[in-house]
Amino acid sequence: EGLDADEAAVVRRRQKVLGTMGPLFYNRPLHVISGSGVHLRGADGADYLDCYNNVACVGHSNPHVRQAVADQLGRQNTHSRYLQDEVLDYAERLLATFPGAIDHVAFTNSGSESNDLALRMARVATGHMGVVVTQGAYHGITSLVSSVSPSFGTGLPLAPFLATVRVDDALHDADGLGDGTGDGADGAAASDAVWAVLGPRFNQAFDALEHGGYGVSCVLIDEVMSSDGILPGARGWIARLADAVHARGGLLISDEVQAGFGRMGGVMWGFQRHGAEADIVTMGKPMGNGIPVGGVAYRHPIGDAFAACTRYFNTFGGNPVSMRAAGAVLDEIERLGLVAHARDMGDRLARDLSEILEGHERFGGLRHAGLFLGIDVTDGADDGGAAQPDGAAARAIVNALRDDEHVLISSAGPGDAVLKVRPPLVFDDSDADRLLEAVRHICERGLFDR
Ligand code: PMP
Repeated sequence: EGLDADEAAVVRRRQKVLGTMGPLFYNRPLHVISGSGVHLRGADGADYLDCYNNVACVGHSNPHVRQAVADQLGRQNTHSRYLQDEVLDYAERLLATFPGAIDHVAFTNSGSESNDLALRMARVATGHMGVVVTQGAYHGITSLVSSVSPSFGTGLPLAPFLATVRVDDALHDADGLGDGTGDGADGAAASDAVWAVLGPRFNQAFDALEHGGYGVSCVLIDEVMSSDGILPGARGWIARLADAVHARGGLLISDEVQAGFGRMGGVMWGFQRHGAEADIVTMGKPMGNGIPVGGVAYRHPIGDAFAACTRYFNTFGGNPVSMRAAGAVLDEIERLGLVAHARDMGDRLARDLSEILEGHERFGGLRHAGLFLGIDVTDGADDGGAAQPDGAAARAIVNALRDDEHVLISSAGPGDAVLKVRPPLVFDDSDADRLLEAVRHICERGLFDR
């Protein structure tokens, strides 16, 4: 319904071979033909502004990445059991971006694989089995990782060695956002307030795992809490969490699949926003600008313990083409100053979007860190009751932006009631102007009012 003939035909063709397992975005799925920078060209001939894609972090069809990949394909692209310069060149550059004691890296082909390996490494290194994640966490699709990803729902049981902690209530307002003044309160007070609520909950989770005989191998944490509702939170509390898990003999695994590579603005890695040190860092999505590549960076004693009792061989992990793509991404991040840009552009979008949305009944607040913004959509209740998250209203906004404004965003969080704005890092001022104009139109049409 609402699909043109081309879209309907492609949807049918897709269902015939791919079935119903792969969900699509939008009531009217977008048939993408090509892309450039932050623009996607649809089969309908329209130019769509991509305000969602964190994979194409340095822009769709980035010429420098394309050149690096093409060049390497013309040289060699065999598996990882030979001496190869490409993986070493990249590993050295990547590790130089980490503060503290992180000094080694293993390469994978996705975020899921990275988290799977990280969980196994933490178990071997600590001798414990238990895992702690947030209540709405998503960490990936392998058997192990999906069993510690509560956002999958209830289709298959979660792991018995898992404890979950609710964070949304503590982080929702604690960062002082909603007024669009910037990337959260930096003060120790805000972080203390968060930890006063979350500290006891994490300790309770640790207790439960210890009483269950599992012990605590790690806390696995998405630094932007994307699937929990985009909750970057007050700076600093993750450092307290690291201390707390260390006190139980466990490790802090920082899942930077969403937050990493400058997305949070001003810092390369999400945990750096908190002045924290992670023991293991997992990466994926933006790392190769669309070429599959992931990684697990760690303090070397963790890897040494793992290697002493098992081994890690990954046919495609660290392959030369992926490494060249990943190197080209780092080149572009540096050349274009994208880490600082993500902070400045994110702050601008947060300020301007808040200004447009302020006073509209369904606007429930805005949070962001760098170029990752979450906008709460509510039922706009004015009957004295607190406004409730409204996923249907959020989806209507997402679809109207796609259909009528040719602007691509999505929604996340419990009930999908949080608008998710997360454009390629190369998003510039004129792109921002176009997004803001589109949001103004949506407001004029009353989609942010009851
Ligand atoms: N961790 C987080 C926080 C993610 O958002 C995702 C993907 N959405 C993953 C891990 C899994 O990554 P991949 O899809 O590359 O396996």
